[in-house]
Amino acid sequence: QEVTNDAPDTVEGLRNVRHIIAVSSCKGGVGKSTTSVNLAYKLKEMGARRVLLTLVPIRPRWRCERRSLRTFPGASLRPSLAFDPRPRRLSTPLLTPFNSRVGIFDADVYGPSLPTMTSPEIAVLQMNKETGTITPTEYEGVGVVSFGFAGQGSAIMRGPMVSGLINQMLTTTDWGELDYLIIDMPPGTGDVQLTICQVVPITAAVVVTTPQKLAFIDVEKGVRMFSKLRVPCVAVVENMSYFEVDGVRHKPFGEGSGQRICDEYGVPNLFQMPIVPELSACGDSGKPLVLADPAGEVSGAYGAVAAKV
Ligand code: ADP
Repeated sequence: QEVTNDAPDTVEGLRNVRHIIAVSSCKGGVGKSTTSVNLAYKLKEMGARRVLLTLVPIRPRWRCERRSLRTFPGASLRPSLAFDPRPRRLSTPLLTPFNSRVGIFDADVYGPSLPTMTSPEIAVLQMNKETGTITPTEYEGVGVVSFGFAGQGSAIMRGPMVSGLINQMLTTTDWGELDYLIIDMPPGTGDVQLTICQVVPITAAVVVTTPQKLAFIDVEKGVRMFSKLRVPCVAVVENMSYFEVDGVRHKPFGEGSGQRICDEYGVPNLFQMPIVPELSACGDSGKPLVLADPAGEVSGAYGAVAAKV
């Protein structure tokens, strides 16, 4: 089937969203939602793309001095530089970083993850009666939308119904001003995924996979789908790549699939994420690991991914 990218330039509710990142995988259970959520909070924390230039009066370290003849008879009148020992009045940094404004759209109708992985105070989507738009609910400063917050229970639907529902949700949610919208795509490369890519102008894709050969065959389809839709695939996250015991790396699922994808399809960034029990525990607890342990190694690893999207 010939696929084209007919994504419109603007969907009303996405008018003020600067970057839309699709996080995709071809199988379920590889860690796509874990990646989406941790990446979203890391992007929010980094906020590197928006800085405010603040002008701060700075007292110079060296000041120009003219010594008077009375104090130093015979001294030259030439100005000389004198060190000023007083503390400099530099109270605000020159560049004030802002948190990025981020949203997550959990597009998995059959197995939504956001209700488990985040804990918003109001776990139900609100409808604005005047405008007829959906307002995202919020957790730790990030807007979150999931079918799991729609209060419909588990979905039993045929494909076209799912596509229609996703389309409706994407076009009626008012995201407001965002720097990044992360779309946690449903696994696979079928109609639903195509619908999303054709409704929404996606800026870039991050593909999540595991190291097995079997995963390579599937993930290849995903990268090809994005390439046909002219969506640049900026990174492959090879999740559950290894675990470490006493400094020795063990690779229970083999290795090489992520690297092969990058080599064959020209994906510029490969990230290998370890198997970390805390990542799973935090996912289950409703507080992503990058929030629970912001200075930890895993948080740093997601920071590296965030820097490339
Ligand atoms: P997907 O969205 O691809 O279906 P999930 O993100 O829901 O996958 O992950 C499936 C399960 O694996 C979850 O319980 C999650 O916490 C766990 N998990 C994901 N990545 C890791 C990892 N690197 N280390 C340990 N557990 C992980």
